[in-house]
Amino acid sequence: MDQRQKEALMKQAMLEGRKARTVCYPNPPVGCLLVKDGEIIARGHTNKPGEHHAEAMALSQLDSVKNASEGVLAFVTLEPCSFHGRTPSCAKAIVFAGIEKVYVGMIDPHPKNRGAGISVLEAAGVEVEVGIMKESVEADLTPYLSIEQC
Ligand SMILES: [Zn+2]
Repeated sequence: MDQRQKEALMKQAMLEGRKARTVCYPNPPVGCLLVKDGEIIARGHTNKPGEHHAEAMALSQLDSVKNASEGVLAFVTLEPCSFHGRTPSCAKAIVFAGIEKVYVGMIDPHPKNRGAGISVLEAAGVEVEVGIMKESVEADLTPYLSIEQC
């Protein structure tokens, strides 16, 4: 996948994440896409606290898709969470679903994450590429990242 394609898909993930702005507090409004053969097959955004994070919402749509996770790429604006807070870890859910590669916009500055989500993915053999559309994603999410989240 070339850089332009990656950026176009991350932009779509950002737009999806913005849908969460009115409901996600105190969590950040993250967006996630699942892509297969260049096509978006699932979209997710942060739900109310205690309900699906963006990744979980997108992954929940995978069951109905033929061939499930084979060759599926994920685009997520913020590093997936590594820890079980109000909801299970999204990084572990991505591993469990068998996602092939994860494109991340920015690292989560939350002290409980901060690279730990990436480590969970890489330790399980999932390819990760960080920093797609980094400046735009940071501009979008940073206002929401200074507050307590989990
Ligand atoms: Zn999460």
